Amino acid sequence: MQQYVRVITDDPTDKELDYAVPEPWTSKVHIGSRVKVPLRSREILATVVALVDTPSVPNPKSISELISEIPILNDRLLKLARWMAEYYCCPIETSIRSVLPQVIRKAQLGFKRERVLSLQRQVDEAELAALAKKAPRQADVLRHAIELGGPVRWRELQLNAVTTDRTIQQLVDRGLLWVQFENTDRDPYAKEQFTASAPLVLNPEQTAALGVAMESIQTRSSQPILIHGITGSGKTEIYLRAIQECLNRGLGALVLVPEISLTPQTVERFKMRFPVERIAVLHSHLSAGERHDEWHKLRSGRAQIAIGARSAVFAPVDRLGLIVVDEEHETSYKQEEAPRYHARDLAVVRAQFEQCAILLGSATPSLESYHNAKIGKYHLVKLTARIDDRRLPLIRVVDMRQEYLKQKQLPVISQGLGTAIEDRLGKKEQTILFLNRRGYSTSLVCNQCGHVCECPNCTVALTFHLQEDRLKCHLCGHAAVAPRKCPKCGDPSIRYAGYGTQKVEGIVQKLFPKAAVARMDADSMSRKDAYRHTLQAFRTGKIDILIGTQMIAKGLDFPNVTLVGIINADVALHMPDFRAGERTFQLLTQVAGRAGRGDMAGEVYVQSATPFSPSIQFARHHNFEGFWEQENEFRERCGYPPFCHLLMVHIRSEHQRRAEFSGETLHRRISEQLDAATALHPVVPAPIERSKGYHRYQILMRTNAIRRLSKTIRGILDKLTFPEEVIVSVDVDPQQLM
Ligand code: ADP
Ligand code: ZN
Repeated sequence: MQQYVRVITDDPTDKELDYAVPEPWTSKVHIGSRVKVPLRSREILATVVALVDTPSVPNPKSISELISEIPILNDRLLKLARWMAEYYCCPIETSIRSVLPQVIRKAQLGFKRERVLSLQRQVDEAELAALAKKAPRQADVLRHAIELGGPVRWRELQLNAVTTDRTIQQLVDRGLLWVQFENTDRDPYAKEQFTASAPLVLNPEQTAALGVAMESIQTRSSQPILIHGITGSGKTEIYLRAIQECLNRGLGALVLVPEISLTPQTVERFKMRFPVERIAVLHSHLSAGERHDEWHKLRSGRAQIAIGARSAVFAPVDRLGLIVVDEEHETSYKQEEAPRYHARDLAVVRAQFEQCAILLGSATPSLESYHNAKIGKYHLVKLTARIDDRRLPLIRVVDMRQEYLKQKQLPVISQGLGTAIEDRLGKKEQTILFLNRRGYSTSLVCNQCGHVCECPNCTVALTFHLQEDRLKCHLCGHAAVAPRKCPKCGDPSIRYAGYGTQKVEGIVQKLFPKAAVARMDADSMSRKDAYRHTLQAFRTGKIDILIGTQMIAKGLDFPNVTLVGIINADVALHMPDFRAGERTFQLLTQVAGRAGRGDMAGEVYVQSATPFSPSIQFARHHNFEGFWEQENEFRERCGYPPFCHLLMVHIRSEHQRRAEFSGETLHRRISEQLDAATALHPVVPAPIERSKGYHRYQILMRTNAIRRLSKTIRGILDKLTFPEEVIVSVDVDPQQLM
């Protein structure tokens, strides 16, 4: 009987096409196989997504090539890809592109192959002696090969017997040795050694948390477990134990960590506990070859544990028993290009499809996850004590308004922080100075009284648009002339000036000429190893003061750091975003977690012109619950997530009028089709109005029926045609409103 398959091509189309399978391949083509198919006048790559009895068109063409017989996509991952396309409003092809790394899709690269030698047959002493007379060097090599026993790598034999390629080849030609090619892995960490670490004795809170995880693994429950554990409470040890349980049961595990904390330090903790060859590490610095090998290690089942950043949520782990999402609140889990998925949310969905357990861990859970825990969708587990009852650091808030008054200008380092740094230098202890992302001067904060210009309708900071000299709300469109002076106290210094890490580095070096100062941010860390080197130098005490951005806020553990300074907490706090408060609270808590992890207690200085903001005050008192209550109340009152879903449409063009006009057209179309579940905001300029030569506009929607809305928007966009150079994109559950 003729066999047919349904494929998704690597073309940006949403159509699934049917093809016939030629006779010789009928038993070799499976769901997930890669094939080449004729489409119009071209041949393109495609993925088989179903085997069908009756094709959707009569007499379809035949597939022209079978690229890889091994299925590269199983039915659960295929289901996840479909779910993602639907939920995040993107074509299925774009979705599959994310699920399968390019090196796997294109199948242009194979395994690294190595020559392996074995004995052709038994050779006895007499034969060796005879050979030694004719060819002493060959006999010597053969003796080595016999002693080494079993198959041996060509290179290894060569080194061992101190010989040449030619001598070995002669033995092969004589029919004494036999060459085979074997696949070997390109292991990015091959050179490192790991000392084994034994499981630790858990404290009662850890024991309870592990118990919940074990139960889910055993019963294959995919109800997410949210571990809210303060920094240093030993969450990682729980992950390790739960993974061990999976291995014992012949199941695999997937661990997601934010890219920035995917440091050798984190990976080491796993490699010290489990056999190195059972772990595959996936991150953005892998070469195509390494990525290929790590991927196949998992797909073939040789490795059972995958550790990786965002895109590792698609790792082809076999028989998945557990997914861990560490630092689940991290915004880097959201992909900021199509498909704009959130890896944590996809992990929750994948766990359902795989029927496996899922752990979400954080010291500062996202409002979304905590809400889910509060309403009983997630199982909440708490770790409230630091291991060995080490003290939480003391957080001091420095009122920068006072500093401004005293010094008649805003200093980078306040007096208090300066004295504290001096003190640490004297004691040979280390300091981290933390600066938020380079300041967009997008909001206006008064240095004299701390007043922030906010939207009267939306309770978010207004955006300052320098060119037009206006303040705008990018949610509702409210606009006003930018004030010359502070509307509250009349001070003219309201126009905020941000400073970057580089400038801070210069100032700090000048203030403390004897100190060794280093900077770590995206600019200075563009080289692949720079990050590792700087961290290593800091760890070994060669650096006294480390200055950096987010990059150094998380996941690192330096026992000798007893002081952390946050140069300007206001940059994060008054971003024109309703999540600004949450981000600030998370940031302060995470940064504070870096201090005092050794035997010494830590101290944190937070510099701010609005020192009484709830986010700062709750972080200062290590009070997550208090913060959550007031923030949750604000979200509910103003109608923000987790009390609804957002959908943002971005429109951009090099021509301002075209972008605006297209936005208006789209807006009209959307408004005709909406129901009561969705509120539609007007077309407004984005807070970052111009970027990379584009004029940017956006339309925000809030909804209680996100999947339906997503489908509606997709339908509208499919029918509308925009001028050629207008680019429209959709962001479901946006994390960035800029
Ligand atoms: P978290 O991930 O919650 O910030 P970690 O897992 O990094 O915390 O744990 C902090 C430190 O405590 C680590 O050095 C870890 O090895 C250690 N630790 C964790 N659990 C225990 C335990 N039960 N007994 C002793 N030390 C522990
Ligand atoms: Zn507004």
